[in-house]
Amino acid sequence: MVFGIFDFGFQISDFRFQLRHHRTPSRPLRHPPVTQSKIETPKSKISSPAQPATGLGFITSALAQPVTPAEAALRPLTFADFTGQLKTVERLQVMVGAARRRGDALNHILLSGPPGLGKTTLAFILGHELGKNVRVTSGPVVEKAGDLAGLLTNLEEGDILFIDEIHRIPKTVEEYLYSAMEDFRLDIMIDQGPNARSVRLSLPRFTLIGATTRAGLLTAPLRSRFTLQTRLDYYDAPTLIGIVQRSCRLLQVEIDEAGAKEIATRSRGTPRIANNLINFIRDFAQERAQGKITQPVAAAALELLEIDVRGLDEMDKRMLRVMAENYRGGPVGMSTIAVAVGEEAETLEEVHEPFLIQEGYLQRTPQGRMLTGKGYEAIGLKALGSEQATLL
Ligand code: ADP
Repeated sequence: MVFGIFDFGFQISDFRFQLRHHRTPSRPLRHPPVTQSKIETPKSKISSPAQPATGLGFITSALAQPVTPAEAALRPLTFADFTGQLKTVERLQVMVGAARRRGDALNHILLSGPPGLGKTTLAFILGHELGKNVRVTSGPVVEKAGDLAGLLTNLEEGDILFIDEIHRIPKTVEEYLYSAMEDFRLDIMIDQGPNARSVRLSLPRFTLIGATTRAGLLTAPLRSRFTLQTRLDYYDAPTLIGIVQRSCRLLQVEIDEAGAKEIATRSRGTPRIANNLINFIRDFAQERAQGKITQPVAAAALELLEIDVRGLDEMDKRMLRVMAENYRGGPVGMSTIAVAVGEEAETLEEVHEPFLIQEGYLQRTPQGRMLTGKGYEAIGLKALGSEQATLL
C-alpha cells in the first residue's frame, strides 16, 4: 500500500485558517481537517498520557478533543482486531468482499452514533482491508465547493474520503456532493460576472464514508446517496472489558480482571472514554500502587476524576441537578440547560445526552427534557410527586 504525500498547495494554508476560525474552546474539531491517511501500527510503549485529565467535564474533554497520537496508536487496524458492533461489522465485511471481487470501489457508507464508538476506526479499517488510502476531513471545514474539489481531485481510484460530522457540511457544498457521489463528477463555477463559466471535473471512483452523531440532521437527498447506513451502539460490559484489556496489553500496563471490569463499567459503553481513563489510571497506579491496575486502584482513580459508579461525570450531574433544582425536573429546553451549566447545547446534545437518555436518566419529550426517577436518584434526590412540585 502506498501513501503518497497529500499535496494541497494553497489549500493547506487555507484550511489552517479555517481551523482557527472553527475552533471554539468547548467544541474543538475532533480531527485535523485533512490528514494524509496514516495507519499507525500500535506502538508497544506510549510514554505520556493522552491529555491532561480534569475532574469537571472529563467526558466532554475525552470525547470532544482531537484524537491524540497515543489514542490513535490504540486503534484496531483490522476487522479481526475490532470487537463489538457485530451487525455493522458483518455488513461492512460483506461490502468489502463484494467490492474486492468486483474490483470496484466500495459503495458509499454512512456511520452514525455517539462519539467515541469507532466510526473513524472503522473507516481506517476499511482502507486497510481494501489497501486504499483514507483521507480524513470534517463537515464544517469543507466550507466552499473549491475545498471539496481540492479534496476529491486528490483522491486515487478506490480511495476513501472520510467526512466526520457530515451533518455540519454547508448546504451549498452538500449539493456538489450529490453528483460527486453518484456520477463521480463535479461541475463547479469559476470566476464571476461575465467571465463566469462552469468547469466539469471528472473524479476517480472513490468511496465517501460519512460519520455523524446526528443522523436526523442529514437531508434526505444526501442520506439517500449512501448505499449503507448503519448505526453504532454503546458497547456492552463484556466487550468493553476486552477492549480495556487489549489497550492495557498494547500500553504494557498490568491490569487484573476486576480492574478491567471497574474501568469498563464506568466508561459509559464507549471505548474512547475507556482508553482515556486507562491513561489516567495508569499514571495513578504508577504513583500510588506500584503500577498495577486492580479494582481498588481503578476505583480510587475514578473517584479522583469524579466519575461515579454509573459512569456519570460532573457535567452530567450538573445537568441533572439544574433540571431538578431549577426546573422541577422539566420539561426544559437544552439551550436553557446549556446556559445554566456553562457548556454549549450542541456538546451536551452530542456528548452527554445520548447516554443519559439510553440509561434512562433523562427523557426527551416534544416540550423539552424531563428528569426521570433514576435521574433524581443519581444526584441523591427523590423524584418530586406532582403535588410537591406544585407546592414548590
Ligand atoms: P468515533 O469516530 O466514533 O468518534 P473513534 O473511531 O475515533 O470513534 O474511536 C475512538 C477510540 O476508541 C479509537 O482510538 C480506538 O482506539 C477505540 N475504539 C473504538 N472502537 C473500538 C473497538 N471496537 N475495539 C477497540 N477499540 C476501539
